[in-house]
Amino acid sequence: MPRRLYACTPTRLNAWLDCPRRYRMTYLDRPSPAKGPPWAHNSLGASVHNALAGWWRLPRRDRTVAAAGELLQQGWLSDGFSDPGQSHAHRQRCRQQVEDYVAVLDPAAEPAGVERTVGTRTDLIALSGRIDRLDDRRAAADPGETGRPPGDLVVVDYKTGRHAPTVDDARSSLALALYALAAGRVLRRRCQRVELHHVPSGSVAAWQHTPESLDRQLHRAEQIAAECADADERYHAAGTGGPPADGVFPPRPGPGCAWCDYRALCPEGSAASPRRRPWDGLPDTAEADTPRSEG
Ligand code: SF4
Repeated sequence: MPRRLYACTPTRLNAWLDCPRRYRMTYLDRPSPAKGPPWAHNSLGASVHNALAGWWRLPRRDRTVAAAGELLQQGWLSDGFSDPGQSHAHRQRCRQQVEDYVAVLDPAAEPAGVERTVGTRTDLIALSGRIDRLDDRRAAADPGETGRPPGDLVVVDYKTGRHAPTVDDARSSLALALYALAAGRVLRRRCQRVELHHVPSGSVAAWQHTPESLDRQLHRAEQIAAECADADERYHAAGTGGPPADGVFPPRPGPGCAWCDYRALCPEGSAASPRRRPWDGLPDTAEADTPRSEG
């Protein structure tokens, strides 16, 4: 029997690579296991992402620096902060960061997409994902020009964690490569450049892929997806009287377990990592490690 296309996102594939047990609890166990409390660093990241997306959705004339700050202020998410004072301090700081970030953007450089969902298929997988921003760099350089070939699309991913990403992070990111590939196919445009924009510092870590390097990442995605599909099948078979699938989803304990939503349900992960408070992943909380989910 030919296998059905495996529908996946880069997030799902990375979850499998990070920890098969976390993958199982996130995507297979139903009813869903209870997660721990919300993380303040996730609220912060979502607030910044939402403000920047909202800014690009404003009419062009309204895309001012002050408007970006106002969007951040109005849409601030306070889940996970220790108290209103801590939330307020971070909101003020993020407001400044968002304003500084948009201050060097060209409001007229209309993106090809904002929080745009793209997808593509191969013989093995149906891939989808959402891109923070898809830039059209030729449109920015030549506003109003006609009769010229369209320029390149660029995948932009916002980061809000305490560490500025590196060029190597951009180069090796499976998600960014798959977004570029899918965006290029959906829009029938060349899309090989990927960029990580660190909003707190304004730094940009960029990588220019080639068709070959994108194909390599797609092949890697297919290989990971094949493992996932096999594990999924064994999980569902176990639920209908087949052999137990416990060994298919081993825990992968390590420092990152401190930030896992399912740590309280996982003896190995609990033993491998200290318990973190919901606000311990915030940028000014000087912990030794970094939340894996930071935006
Ligand atoms: S606590 Fe660690 S080992 Fe356990 S599920 Fe989470 S990431 Fe995996």
